Amino acid sequence: MGNCKVGRAFTFQTLSWGFMFFENEYLNPFMNTGALATQIDDFNGDNFDHTGLGFIGGAGIQSLSNQGLPIGMAGLLPQGSPQWGKGWKQAFQKGYQNYAQIQGQGTSFAHREQFLDLDPTYRDRFGQPLLRITFDYNENDRRSGRFIRDKCVEIAREMGAAQVGGDSFAERPYSGYTPWDSSHVQGGVVMGEDPRTSVQNRFQQNWDVPNLFVIGASSFPNNAGYNPTVAVGATTLWTAKAITDLYLKNPGPLVRL
Ligand SMILES: Cc1cc2nc3c(=O)[nH]c(=O)nc-3n(C[C@H](O)[C@H](O)[C@H](O)COP(=O)(O)OP(=O)(O)OC[C@H]3O[C@@H](n4cnc5c(N)ncnc54)[C@H](O)[C@@H]3O)c2cc1C
Repeated sequence: MGNCKVGRAFTFQTLSWGFMFFENEYLNPFMNTGALATQIDDFNGDNFDHTGLGFIGGAGIQSLSNQGLPIGMAGLLPQGSPQWGKGWKQAFQKGYQNYAQIQGQGTSFAHREQFLDLDPTYRDRFGQPLLRITFDYNENDRRSGRFIRDKCVEIAREMGAAQVGGDSFAERPYSGYTPWDSSHVQGGVVMGEDPRTSVQNRFQQNWDVPNLFVIGASSFPNNAGYNPTVAVGATTLWTAKAITDLYLKNPGPLVRL
């Protein structure tokens, strides 16, 4: 019965952000490292009062200093900047040095309209059906995305930037992976306590086939507003320990209902 649930609970991540151009701060964005960021969790998960907001969850809000790509940032110009020629070069030089972003990496909860299945049309070179992703941001994502975007903009204004704006991916239909979209996907083989709604038990062991363990972000039933990899490492170690300490000594289901 558990295997009927394969493909269920595919989740993504709801990215929202505020951006700002300072007047003369000269932030030297080329001085950075890949994961250099500061994050507040005040508006993530259950950390704040959701009364009247109409959604659950939220986002970790980060100020990032993780890239200074000269070409990648060429499109980021203060409003009203010339679009070509000498004026564009001057605006880009100044904008590059004075641009900063605050981003919310938001929760994404399972929804019946978000799932994985086998594509009825497209096949790989071995004739096997390709994996098909059916996904769009749901109403909860859209509401939380707008809320987090507005928080990012509020913080940006408080920081005294000359120009402030904001946006959220949840404001538009999902159009597939783009460089600015999140790369954090979860679900499809989720673990849980009930074989009617999950594929695997909490040891990432298939409910029906005890010698099958599927590890990784595919077993997460949702995105909790954090990056997945550390939790992937932790749950993998948890499963490895269960296999060596429990399963190998007594092969069979590790959770009996
Ligand atoms: C550009 C980018 C940036 C990211 N940045 C971050 C970050 O900063 N922090 C963070 O926490 N997460 C980040 N992530 C997300 C993170 O990489 C994933 O959440 C994580 O790798 C998921 O681990 P996994 O084991 O579930 O899947 P994967 O790491 O995708 O592992 C699946 C493995 O299965 C292999 N495989 C697939 N099909 C088969 C097959 N048929 N037979 C055998 N092997 C197969 C693949 O080759 C792959 O090695 C980022 C992802 C991307 C793409």
